[in-house]
Amino acid sequence: MNERKLIPLSVPNFEGNEKKYVDDAVEQQWVSTGGAYITELERSLATFLRVENVAACQSGTAALHLALIEAGVRPGDAVIVPTITFIAAVNPVKYQFAEPIFMDADDSLCMDPIKLALFCEEECSFSGGKLLFNGHHVKAIVVVHVFGNIADMESIMNVAERYNLKVIEDSTEALGACYITGKYAGKYAGTIGDYGAYSFNGNKIITTGGGGAVTAGDPEKVDHIRYLSTQAKDDPHYYIHNEIGYNYRMTNVQAALGVAQMEELSDFIQRKQQNYELYKKLFSDFNLCKLLGFREGTKSNKWFYSLVIDRNKIRVPLRNIIVELEDRGIQTRAIWGLIHEQKPYVSSFAYKIENANYYADRVINIPSSTSLSQEDIRKVSTEIQDVLQFVAGL
Ligand SMILES: *Cc1c(COP(=O)(O)O)cnc(C)c1O
Repeated sequence: MNERKLIPLSVPNFEGNEKKYVDDAVEQQWVSTGGAYITELERSLATFLRVENVAACQSGTAALHLALIEAGVRPGDAVIVPTITFIAAVNPVKYQFAEPIFMDADDSLCMDPIKLALFCEEECSFSGGKLLFNGHHVKAIVVVHVFGNIADMESIMNVAERYNLKVIEDSTEALGACYITGKYAGKYAGTIGDYGAYSFNGNKIITTGGGGAVTAGDPEKVDHIRYLSTQAKDDPHYYIHNEIGYNYRMTNVQAALGVAQMEELSDFIQRKQQNYELYKKLFSDFNLCKLLGFREGTKSNKWFYSLVIDRNKIRVPLRNIIVELEDRGIQTRAIWGLIHEQKPYVSSFAYKIENANYYADRVINIPSSTSLSQEDIRKVSTEIQDVLQFVAGL
């Protein structure tokens, strides 16, 4: 309590060429939405993800918006979205004046594919290649790979194929996570569905301050997304525009940071993995909470770690635990408020949400930065266990 240095949840790590590349971009005076670092970042992401084409943009939210536009989501359409997510996965549906349909989570915190299939089968009608719900054409699913845990893509893709739905993977938290067995072995999060969106916000596994990227199974779609992100300018000399564009392109200064961060990505993933293993060891014999695992057959990027509190033993609201830990210099948080309960979405359709509430009431995220020392991790574990024992009345 006397020590005010906070161990934060997730902070950037600039141990590489960040300063050098940013200085270089500034010196060359290429600071805006053109410049070699943007192309270099796109190339580096494409190589890493083993895809042909990636478009860098201003944020993960912009990436998701552009993916929805390209997927053909138009006013009056419906899009299936998870309720456990950061709200930025859902808001772009509304930017398109389309309707979100909220889906429950499975035990990975990602979208429940069984409920997804049941919803399509029992609540919708399918004819002429169109899935209809309450008069809305259901065009797409936004799947979020929550905290770097990959959703059950094989089951979700099966549903999408059956009902002719586009799949947009919100991989904003899952850059570098991949399948290692099964149908999608070797495939990275964001490269399985029709579109994949990434974020380089300050708390993500790599950061450009603010930034994002989109990829797609069809490389021409990525070209079109890049065109839309730069005001849909059709002529290099005259200002000719044949579509409504956006100012969604990443800047060269952001991209300079990104190129340096990409050089470190594999190392970051490895450190997250090691830190996770240490937490796992430290919590293995503790019975008031358990560390949430990651999907079998996948290699998560281990972006964020989650503890699930045992509600039979601990009755106090999560807020009490979070505030007490903050006093002890440790930043933690609850998972997001469920989106179907947020004010702009209370009247939207939500399909049999149960599991999401269960986890929202039990999960806290704990410090997961790549810069954590072993000593930090031991301190975090000790303090959490101490606080949980205290609130359990032990
Ligand atoms: C971070 C995040 C986004 C948005 O990314 P920004 O770059 O902050 O716009 C979208 N969805 C999820 C699940 C996120 O965690």
